[in-house]
Amino acid sequence: MLKLINFTRKFSKTIIKLSEEEKAKSAFVASALKNTTIFDKIISKEISADIIYEDSKCLAFNDINAQAKVHFLVIPKCRIPRLEDMTEKDCEVVGHIMKIASKLGKERSPEGFRLVVNNGVHGCQSIYHLHLHIIGGQQLSWPPGV
Ligand code: 5GP
Repeated sequence: MLKLINFTRKFSKTIIKLSEEEKAKSAFVASALKNTTIFDKIISKEISADIIYEDSKCLAFNDINAQAKVHFLVIPKCRIPRLEDMTEKDCEVVGHIMKIASKLGKERSPEGFRLVVNNGVHGCQSIYHLHLHIIGGQQLSWPPGV
């Protein structure tokens, strides 16, 4: 009986801890969706970045924490927080960033490259301004980390 009581106590503590973590994650996402991001400051040149391409709709720059020999980001200048927030009206700009990612990817990693979009908490998205990661310049492995 005592064992059962202890187990129940431990179990409910874990549930409370988990729900606190979930609450903190939801609060982070809610605030990230509302606020502008560091990428807005890179677009406005308030913060410098190693820019490799720019036009009226998008910007491409090297990732500050490169995960491979080639690792750059392509972002739309308009704000779409996550891929899941994309609507019909965003199709053109998202098509455009894909085209630029492909062009720059071919130039910088001719043997092939990978395109990654992290979406939301489980997708490990840290900056809530849609961005394509283009990773390459070396042999990559598959499957990616889970
Ligand atoms: P996420 O995890 O949101 O998919 O990726 C965000 C990426 O942005 C990360 O790979 C991170 O290294 C990169 N990043 C974050 N802050 C900056 C910055 O100030 N400058 C540059 N160039 N990259 C950044």
